[in-house]
Amino acid sequence: MYHEEISTSDVDDESELEGGEKFMKCPFCGEIDNKVIDSRLSKDGNVIRRRRECIVCSRRFTTYENIEDIPVMIIKKDGRREVFSREKVRLGIQKACQKRDISINVIEEFLDELERDLRETGEKEIPSPKIGEKVMSKLHDLDDVAYVRFASVYREFKDVNDFVSELKSLLSKH
Ligand SMILES: [Zn+2]
Repeated sequence: MYHEEISTSDVDDESELEGGEKFMKCPFCGEIDNKVIDSRLSKDGNVIRRRRECIVCSRRFTTYENIEDIPVMIIKKDGRREVFSREKVRLGIQKACQKRDISINVIEEFLDELERDLRETGEKEIPSPKIGEKVMSKLHDLDDVAYVRFASVYREFKDVNDFVSELKSLLSKH
């Protein structure tokens, strides 16, 4: 723990960690650990305003972050971390959508939405299943075949019965 002058500007307290990871220091006591109480996206969708509460002194402050600057780390099933890759998610979706009537634009729009959602949560690390679930629910809305293809890879159906029960639940929704 270290102390420094109290700053009146929240934005100026944005600092850079060694790995390039951004964090928000408490302007009152300098602590870097805090919890996000509320997040709001600006009207143009480029800036996130967050209310934060300092873990040490419990005081609250506001930070503003450019959405593009917020890194999203993914926690994989085996516990390893990696930077969120839009490219990887796109490839998974495109595979599932092969020869289906789904335009690239729809996929890109979904990826925009997904990235924005992830950054807006304020979580520094997001478990990979969360992303898989979001993709599945989107594909479920778009195209049954694409959905089942994606789900079969993603859920790693152990045997044909798992797969059939997934199909049944899908068909019963129609
Ligand atoms: Zn503090």
